[in-house]
Amino acid sequence: MTDRKDMRSGGCLCGAVRFSAVLPESVIQACHCGQCQRWTGGGPLWAVRVKDLKLQGEDAIQSYHASEHGERAFCRMCGTTLYWKLQGRAIAFMSVGLLDDQSGLSVEEEIFVDQRPDWLPHFKGAKQHDEAEMQAQLKAFLEKEA
Ligand SMILES: [Zn+2]
Ligand SMILES: [Zn+2]
Repeated sequence: MTDRKDMRSGGCLCGAVRFSAVLPESVIQACHCGQCQRWTGGGPLWAVRVKDLKLQGEDAIQSYHASEHGERAFCRMCGTTLYWKLQGRAIAFMSVGLLDDQSGLSVEEEIFVDQRPDWLPHFKGAKQHDEAEMQAQLKAFLEKEA
């Protein structure tokens, strides 16, 4: 599955924002951080990695700096959660619920798991990363890119 060129389309609830992208892997990543919980109205943020992203309706996209490095974007017409990305970088993850076709994907990675609420069980077999691991990963990434 992972070496297949998997082109998918998607869009927001009102249709003002549309996109196509290649999914380089069939992995859904769940982010349980406190920001994603509030942002999605109950979290986690379910996201898929995207490449060769082509966006339409960029006028309808509102984004803001949500933290020191993070940027979050939503549709200003309908409020749909679109993506989280590192400031100044390409969009690497989109919300999985935007996809017109969500077939063939599975939750294989959960991050910020130490912030996951008690009522939400973890996915069997999914990699579990806590906040300390994610901060270390981000730091290493930013240092490598600098
Ligand atoms: Zn919309
Ligand atoms: Zn998050």
